[in-house]
Amino acid sequence: MSRARNFVFVLIIALALVCSGSCRKQGLTYDLVIVNGRVVDGSGAGPIEADVAVIGDSVVGVGSLDPEARGQARRVIDARGLVVCPGFIDIHTHSDYPLLVDGTAQSKIRQGVTTEILGESDSAGPIQGKMERSAPYGLHVDWRTLGEYFKRLERGGISVNVGSFVGATQVRRCILGEESREPTRPEMEQMKQLVTEAMQDGALGLSVALLVPPNTYHTTAQLIELASAVKPFGGLYLTHIRTEGEGIETAIGEALEVAEKAQVPVDILHLKIADRRLWGRMKNVCDLIEGARSRGIRASADQYPYVAGQNNLVALVPPWAMEGGHEKMLARLRNPVERRRIEKDLHAGIPGWFNHYLAMSGWEGCVVASVRTEANRKYEGKSIAEIARLSGKRPADAVFDLLVDEQGSVPAVSACAGKVRARRTRPDTA
Ligand SMILES: [Zn+2]
Repeated sequence: MSRARNFVFVLIIALALVCSGSCRKQGLTYDLVIVNGRVVDGSGAGPIEADVAVIGDSVVGVGSLDPEARGQARRVIDARGLVVCPGFIDIHTHSDYPLLVDGTAQSKIRQGVTTEILGESDSAGPIQGKMERSAPYGLHVDWRTLGEYFKRLERGGISVNVGSFVGATQVRRCILGEESREPTRPEMEQMKQLVTEAMQDGALGLSVALLVPPNTYHTTAQLIELASAVKPFGGLYLTHIRTEGEGIETAIGEALEVAEKAQVPVDILHLKIADRRLWGRMKNVCDLIEGARSRGIRASADQYPYVAGQNNLVALVPPWAMEGGHEKMLARLRNPVERRRIEKDLHAGIPGWFNHYLAMSGWEGCVVASVRTEANRKYEGKSIAEIARLSGKRPADAVFDLLVDEQGSVPAVSACAGKVRARRTRPDTA
């Protein structure tokens, strides 16, 4: 990701050095000149008053341009009072499939995002073997590898640049399906081969989200093996750690161990303590990362600057109830006896399971973001507490019924205010 970001800056600066002041002499006419803006080039330097010249899709000059050349530009934008800067890179998106539906990506472009990084635990490829060849939004899956997915994106046309990680769980599903067992040696080799192929197709590294099955089935040793496969390509190990509640220090330790043993850099995603009962321990977490860095491990973390996180109501289902995959989980949610057992575990917790319900301490802070069925549309933007009141159900039943109606997936936003503290000044967080 930093590679991609550096690329943008280097591109601008390099082209500026090559062309500044000389393009006019070569008889080139600028397609676009942005004048009177304050240029922030992303290098960390302060803003400068400068013009920016563009030919085709490339910046060819930054600085004081020849007035004659400026005058002949095909288009001039007056950016007085505005900042001119390289496009933003959204380093963590889930646009893998939405970009196939609408490649114009207006929701990103209009915020200034010109590069999206995809494949944040589940990637669009590989999609083959035991993995079900299906995709949301009624998309027809006509690709098997990450490379073929990129080609499909290009064929459809997209307005943003993209990069993607390859998901550890993606390759696991291709070889093992939804089974929770250990892979055999040949299966492990097949998974590594899939990671290698994805890296050859241009993946940025290996990603994983260890909070939710079947991601949770990866052992540390398996993660080290899979992460080793990205090393020859200079890839990164990108991890949603195993828990953001009790045991977070161990989870951070695991991420650092994978990086150390696989000899790859690691980035810890969304660094935070989500369980409000544990707030105050952030210093320990940061010290662990700092300590690793001082031992030579290339460890970094990123964070979001807001006080809620997007997840899915399915994360409220305990791991045992997800065993065997999607359909089996839905069957358990429909079965009254199993449903009560799920509810009991949700309220009481299970040792070793990061329980979002206990972490967010209450249903008021858990809001349904989107649904697929018309019947449930009225619940979008409402908290589980409100939905329970409106439907006359107990909150847990409201959640489980929604999951059943929505085929096991209900994107939701949960509040965990306060978690941002203590990290802002760290040099190793993005
Ligand atoms: Zn994430």
